[in-house]
Amino acid sequence: MEALYSIRMRAAKGGSHEIGGRHISGGERLVTEEGLQQYAQQLIDRALHHSRGEADFINITIDRVPPNTIHYIYPLSVESLTCETVMDARQYAVNWLMKEGVSELAARKGINFITHDTTTRGAIIMDASSGERLDDKGIRGVRVSHLDWEEDYWNKWQRREGGSSRVRESIALATKVHLAGSVAELCWSDDPEYITGYVAGNTYCRIPHLKLRGDESGGRVFYVRQPIDLEQYIHFLEQVPVMIRGDE
Ligand code: AMP
Repeated sequence: MEALYSIRMRAAKGGSHEIGGRHISGGERLVTEEGLQQYAQQLIDRALHHSRGEADFINITIDRVPPNTIHYIYPLSVESLTCETVMDARQYAVNWLMKEGVSELAARKGINFITHDTTTRGAIIMDASSGERLDDKGIRGVRVSHLDWEEDYWNKWQRREGGSSRVRESIALATKVHLAGSVAELCWSDDPEYITGYVAGNTYCRIPHLKLRGDESGGRVFYVRQPIDLEQYIHFLEQVPVMIRGDE
């Protein structure tokens, strides 16, 4: 079996994240050696031409993934809601989160967190009942990596369902977050031009208008049920390789 490499990028403006630079963008894939160069180039382009600004710090990390450590899994199934206003969209998000097992209080706390988040570059972990933040990662958050779609399967899936590279990355991430044992996830992008977000649990539910165009807020909340071994949960999200594939 061909070796795979995890490649991930984080970019900031005003210096590195560590010295207080503002997060611009990130990305992660699992690719063959052949694909490394092409994807590194794509990540650099993403960092230099982002609607949040032009990065002046770009960090790219590559490490080899032993093939026998990879988990294979089907993608979550996708639903799309239609709504016209931010208020409706956020109410739908609350309802959907509750359907997945999140309390109304925690759902609203998640929305409130993302509404005011312009700095966190990963996700926060929240108690699905109380809405208390459980991780201590500050503005770094928890960054899910070591995940991707098998290329052939993605091409088939995309022909059937449609979807951009953004959808590709989000469904892979939400599927891994679900596999990790999360109750649900809430996300909208910090890209001011991209206003469709999602709630994921057993299903990945796309919700348009989760924010207004031009708004730079965005982020991710992973809801978990206590008791949970947080260290192990975070290790799985950050380190264990997961590949999306199906039967077709
Ligand atoms: P994006 O969908 O790339 O615009 O990301 C939206 C927000 O989700 C970002 O501002 C981060 O807070 C968070 N995020 C992005 N990528 C990841 C990741 N790989 N793992 C965890 N959180 C992420």
